[in-house]
Amino acid sequence: MLKGKTALITGSTSGIGLGIAKALAAQGANIVLNGFGDVEGPKAEVAGLGVQVSYHGADMSKPAEIENMIHHATKTFGALDILVNNAGIQHVARVENFPVERWDAIMAINLSSAFHATRLALPGMLARNWGRIINVASIHGLVASAEKSAYVAAKHGVVGLTKVTALENATTGVTCNAICPGWVLTPLVQKQVDAKATALKISNDDATKLLLGEKEPSLQFTTPEELGALAVFFCSPAGNNVRGVAWNMDGGWTAQ
Ligand code: NAD
Repeated sequence: MLKGKTALITGSTSGIGLGIAKALAAQGANIVLNGFGDVEGPKAEVAGLGVQVSYHGADMSKPAEIENMIHHATKTFGALDILVNNAGIQHVARVENFPVERWDAIMAINLSSAFHATRLALPGMLARNWGRIINVASIHGLVASAEKSAYVAAKHGVVGLTKVTALENATTGVTCNAICPGWVLTPLVQKQVDAKATALKISNDDATKLLLGEKEPSLQFTTPEELGALAVFFCSPAGNNVRGVAWNMDGGWTAQ
């Protein structure tokens, strides 16, 4: 379905981003990966799906590097058709104890990077009158949890940016939507499970059950594969008139 298209997924060396990259590759899209850590492993996984893969190591807190990455995608594959703004970090602390440097980093990586990548990718998409911008927000773009002030503020911002981008382009072939996952067992969440296990002196298994039980009625993690399938839907012809939604995949978290 996506043969001949190019998708850039930020923060795709791990977790949800890699899951979405693989789902889009399975539909034939050429892929630009981004993120830190091991690059060769994710590159090989995506290439194994029979598409072309490139990598750009832009630090998503740096607008000049984001600009460079968008140019790299266009230069490598001729166009950028699908942009998935996914890179994100977390820090947990009460507002009065929240390190200022962590606040600034979360705002830059989780929110401003989506603005920069979007503003730079849009002109090419509009020129071809086809584009998909998918913002990986979070359930924390819709509701809050204590001790996540920067993350919740940034993710609410991402949902707002999604709506504005969708409205400004509503009469064109460019759509913009957000995905709002509940808990997904990635390195980002494993750190929170480990912190809970240490703080409460309980096993990793019990900490996992506690984490899910507090918020997620299904008591199940959403998987990167399920989120990838939702991204594919947004890119499909059936998604042509889906504009500005913030779509939960949260095991009932926000139905409560
Ligand atoms: P993860 O830690 O597995 O992956 C994060 C990715 O972002 C990695 O590839 C990492 O290298 C990259 N990254 C981090 N800082 C970066 C930077 N400055 N520049 C470029 N890349 C950078 O985390 P994940 O759980 O897969 O999270 C992906 C997105 O999903 C995030 O935006 C997160 O907020 C969101 N999310 C996660 C969950 C969850 O439960 N895991 C739930 C809702 C939303």
